Amino acid sequence: MISVTDALATILEATPVLDAERVALLDAAGRVAAEAVASTRWVPAADNSAMDGIAVRGADVAQAPARLRLIGSAPAGSLLGGRVEAGTAAKIFTGSVIPDGADTVVRVEDIEEADGAVVVKVAVKPGSNVRLRGEDVVPGTVVVAPGTVLGPADLGVLASLGRATTTVRRRARVAIVSTGAELVEIDETPGPAQVVNSNAYGLAAAVRAAGADAIGLPIVRDRFEDIRARFEEAAQADVVLSTGGVSVGEFDFVRDALDALGVERRFWKVAQKPGKPLTFGTLGRRLFFGLPGNPVSALVCFAVYVRPALRKLAGHAAIHHPVVSARLVAPVRKAANLTEFVRVHLARADGGWTASAFAAQGSGVLTSLAGGAGLLVGPADASVLDAGAVYPVIVLDDTTLATAAPAFSN
Ligand code: AMP
Ligand code: MG
Repeated sequence: MISVTDALATILEATPVLDAERVALLDAAGRVAAEAVASTRWVPAADNSAMDGIAVRGADVAQAPARLRLIGSAPAGSLLGGRVEAGTAAKIFTGSVIPDGADTVVRVEDIEEADGAVVVKVAVKPGSNVRLRGEDVVPGTVVVAPGTVLGPADLGVLASLGRATTTVRRRARVAIVSTGAELVEIDETPGPAQVVNSNAYGLAAAVRAAGADAIGLPIVRDRFEDIRARFEEAAQADVVLSTGGVSVGEFDFVRDALDALGVERRFWKVAQKPGKPLTFGTLGRRLFFGLPGNPVSALVCFAVYVRPALRKLAGHAAIHHPVVSARLVAPVRKAANLTEFVRVHLARADGGWTASAFAAQGSGVLTSLAGGAGLLVGPADASVLDAGAVYPVIVLDDTTLATAAPAFSN
């Protein structure tokens, strides 16, 4: 049996980063750039106006009032035909290219217009209100470094450079193998000895939320040969997640089936609750997680071990769920010598957090993990977690940190 820390380190050490693929720009959102992107363009492409107003020569407006003759108008998207000479001005709008001869823009609020002429009412510093060519990007500027998680602004910058596609780390393909003679599909009505295959849904949702693609496979019964064959099929994927059959029961064939496939077992059993029978192995670059069948155990093991691995495969550096420190509201008894992931409800208090444990901590009680629960990490050496003490809590879902009312005011 190994510790949580060692199990996680073993998994991440064995986890590669996937190769790159070229995708349409919008499909790159939230993914990790595989290559540096350097601009071949100037942004903006020409000096242009930051304001609605008139384009003038700076020397003409250094003193006020100044009377200038209007020679034309350059709406955004067009170029003025003529040239702004001394004593003249051209109407200009936000984003309009500064006409030849001009170097300064006077805001519309600072002028008065009368029969073909304008009067500039205030002195304006030369160069005012002009956005210079290349002030955002010049040719050669690296706008995206490899490893960048591409957000809305990155996509906007890439779009401004005309990049309709970009290279990102491939999404991991994750096969889900559900084992159990008691399992039935979602559209069947379970008999008293049967259970709907809920893990396939919970895990597929978790896989998607981690930015990977889930491949659901049909239920497999607790027979060694069937499980081996299903794993062989699943091994096409980058990652195989199985649930159930990984403990010490007479019908638990997952480890034997993985052995038979040639999967190199890296560990079996972690000093934790829930999820003690977790097993992990590799076959070449592919990862095999034998998750326990209990729905809570499966999802807790996913959050702690599988999600970081999927994020690493996809090229992310920040691969773990966020953790907050929270003050425990009431004491919790825990198993000695096991790290315990206690399902808690988080609440804001005095700029920090409090955690209250759900009453039902059984690994079959999936509702205790629903609706934005956190996982309080109870240290292995403790047998009771004290009220008032502060513990790390894994935040499983960022809606936990979201607020209904604005969390700021002005
Ligand atoms: P096992 O790990 O196979 O011993 O299963 C432990 C518990 O989890 C049993 O109560 C199973 O019925 C339940 N279980 C196993 N697989 C699933 C599944 N795919 N969906 C829901 N419950 C499951
Ligand atoms: Mg089973």
